[in-house]
Amino acid sequence: MTSNTIGATAKSAADSVAAVLDGRELVVASNREPYSHGYTDGEIVVDRPAGGLTAALDPVMQAVEGTWVAWGDGDADREVVNDEGTVGVPPEDPAYDLRRVWLSDEQVSGYYRGYSNQVLWPLCHLDTAKVNADPTFWAQYRQTNADFADAILDAAEDDSVVWFQDYHLALAPRRVRDARPDATLAHFWHIPWPTWDAFQACPQYEQLLDGLLANDLVGFHTEAYCRNFLDCVEAATHARVDRASASVSYKGQRTFVRSFPLGIDAAQRAELATSEAADDYWQRFREGYDIDADTRLALGVERLDYTKGIERRLDALERFWEQYPEWRGELTYVQKGTESRSEIPAYSELQNRVADAIERVNDRFGTDDWTPVVSLTDHVPDAGLAALYREADLALVTPVRDGMNLVAKEYVASQTGESGVLVLSELAGSHEQLGDESVLVHPYDEAGVADGIADALELSRDERARRMAALQRSVHAEDVYDWLESQFQTVAAVERGRQSSRAMLER
Ligand code: UDP
Repeated sequence: MTSNTIGATAKSAADSVAAVLDGRELVVASNREPYSHGYTDGEIVVDRPAGGLTAALDPVMQAVEGTWVAWGDGDADREVVNDEGTVGVPPEDPAYDLRRVWLSDEQVSGYYRGYSNQVLWPLCHLDTAKVNADPTFWAQYRQTNADFADAILDAAEDDSVVWFQDYHLALAPRRVRDARPDATLAHFWHIPWPTWDAFQACPQYEQLLDGLLANDLVGFHTEAYCRNFLDCVEAATHARVDRASASVSYKGQRTFVRSFPLGIDAAQRAELATSEAADDYWQRFREGYDIDADTRLALGVERLDYTKGIERRLDALERFWEQYPEWRGELTYVQKGTESRSEIPAYSELQNRVADAIERVNDRFGTDDWTPVVSLTDHVPDAGLAALYREADLALVTPVRDGMNLVAKEYVASQTGESGVLVLSELAGSHEQLGDESVLVHPYDEAGVADGIADALELSRDERARRMAALQRSVHAEDVYDWLESQFQTVAAVERGRQSSRAMLER
């Protein structure tokens, strides 16, 4: 599906969002923008939605003609906007407004690289030792959230629906609420919500909760994160927490807390996996890396992030080839790793350690005919990724902590050939949906992961097919459009509840 053709499921999601809005303005706010403008050979070019949530939300935004507020970080972003910082998108046939927020270098460093990625990210992934408590980060985070809120307020009317995305924008809802008491505010938090013990390590825990409790609805991937959030609210504030309805009453307002497990565009992934471009990539890949038809393939795909468990996985693979020598030369592991957040020392150091670990394993077991670990750090096109997913006998998805993990779902949706096996960490949010039919492992249990890999390789063809069919049913049923629809249905239910309690008070 391209960004301007609406597929069947995108169409139904758009219809359902439009029905809830009933003519009101939808304002979406996220850190990343759906379109960015840059220069190629002196010409302005547009970079399109890369995939995932942005690509799924784009056709819905086109259908409802809303406003998307996001950080304008493209080199040519300022060249194409009007006086308010807004540009119509998609550029060739504008359907909705992209309102860009401009960040200074200090804001990028303090709000984005600092508070978002060195405080909230490790905190929410329960890695409090990595939290960097630099005092300048918080000031920039507050300022940037205020800037986002002001940009939202330029677009939002009294009765608008504002939908905040993620941990970059925890404070913005409060400022929007103060100015638009009757608007409907919803927020989806895309990373885990930590336990109170961990959350308390953040000195600004009260302000963060105060910001989020300005929303009518706060969504998380799993029930466990919802429970953690309610625990934190109960411990840190004077709010009244009602566990039965999973809601919070705070400053005269009620916030509902619900789980909405994010999905993928499963139909589009399956289509890509059967494309000619995928076949071509696979052909070239096998020839380039000299992988013969009998070699089994295991695959890991992720940003090089310390939450993904890549180092521990490589240790487990080393143990696997040590303990199961019959698999030497028979199983190749492909690590697709993309550099991420490299300006942060914890990330650049991780990249070096991962490269060293790959070299160590290859030096130990590699032969003239076989490279145990193939590392792909360059860009792989979508069709190439689809080919790797399709051909992989195993996907090794073993994060030490992950809000959801969409790679697990992409693997499942792309399995259009002979079925492989999903080896999944019990610490990934996706294990709530996919755990039963995966080979479930604990990422810190090196021997257990090695045995899990061996067990997965021994599963019969029938058993693999049965498990994969069940996983595919789940991934197709709970896709990204289902996620969108169910959130807007809940928004509608929250609004109906608000109207009836107002009517009761007025009686
Ligand atoms: N991805 C990619 N190339 C890579 C690594 C990741 O295209 O080298 C994509 C992957 O296909 C998925 C997303 O990035 O759509 C990662 O989502 P996930 O929820 O697994 O992890 P996150 O990076 O959001 O923590």
